[in-house]
Amino acid sequence: MGSWNTCIVCKWVRKKAEKNAQCAVQQDAEQEKARLADEQPGEWQCGEDTTDAAGQAVQTDEKKRKTMNIDVLTLFPEMFPSVVESSILGRAASNGILKLHFTDIRTFSKDKHNKADDYPFGGGGGMVMMPDPIFGALESVNAAQKKIVYMSPRGKILDAKKIQELAELDSLVILCGHYEGIDQRVLDYWDIEEISIGDYVLTGGELPAMVLIDSVARMLPGVLGNENSALDESIYSGLLEHPQYTKPREYCGMQVPEVLVSGNHKLIALWKFREALLLTKERRPDLYDQFIQDKSRFSKEEAKIVEEIEKIKT
Ligand code: SAM
Repeated sequence: MGSWNTCIVCKWVRKKAEKNAQCAVQQDAEQEKARLADEQPGEWQCGEDTTDAAGQAVQTDEKKRKTMNIDVLTLFPEMFPSVVESSILGRAASNGILKLHFTDIRTFSKDKHNKADDYPFGGGGGMVMMPDPIFGALESVNAAQKKIVYMSPRGKILDAKKIQELAELDSLVILCGHYEGIDQRVLDYWDIEEISIGDYVLTGGELPAMVLIDSVARMLPGVLGNENSALDESIYSGLLEHPQYTKPREYCGMQVPEVLVSGNHKLIALWKFREALLLTKERRPDLYDQFIQDKSRFSKEEAKIVEEIEKIKT
């Protein structure tokens, strides 16, 4: 038997591997060059690296996946890294599914002290973000060609439908306000949709932007392990989710429901369905009523459970 050094097939395989490695290094260098050429002062981005945690090139059904490019315009880009580089978002970025690009609005200020806000005309407390640096930042990311959203308590409240709609896009620009918000002329000039994350007011649009990025990223194919799991969750499934349990089977005298450890998948599915229905009826009667409207969607067993739960008075 020939050794690795002398065998002709081994030599061929080794040569091919060396060539591939060379190619990959060359490609990496070219990508890095292009990235650096694209980068502007005041910007940093994540999502260029197409290797996984072990440094392996990520090949898995790459073609099925798309890349979503999100530009975030903010006065506080330093608030983002710990959120977007951790856990599932971090993995989506390193898999190349999500490309996040942060632009510091202040770097587009023409003021010698980089001022980006000023007192509001007509008086009132607080400061307002000036239009010029925001215009500069929007132009720098070619926002006229992209969907732009402004995180704002005056906007329509973010919901699952809007998140799914945004996840269909290839690119998105998120504008974060701060202080008293932004000069109205930015909103009048650019085609911008205002989106709120709830009926309360935060100090800036950065946390709402993170909420938007996280919720949209979950919808992108390949971000969650199981492609369907985003739609199995509370709200997306039409119901609130059933209770979840993990090890140990007994904790502080409390047992995991017997059915979950029975191994009977049909019974487990029906138990989950029943629990989800009960919880939704109790907490979100609006969702419950909508869910049970179309009876034709239920199996015979599910229909029986719905009938039974319908009789329960809340
Ligand atoms: N003066 C503004 C008003 O009364 O509508 C509130 C400004 S708030 C203090 C500063 C920034 O935080 C806003 O420009 C916006 O970007 C962001 N923000 C605050 N609450 C928000 C919410 N519920 N949803 C989305 N963005 C919000």
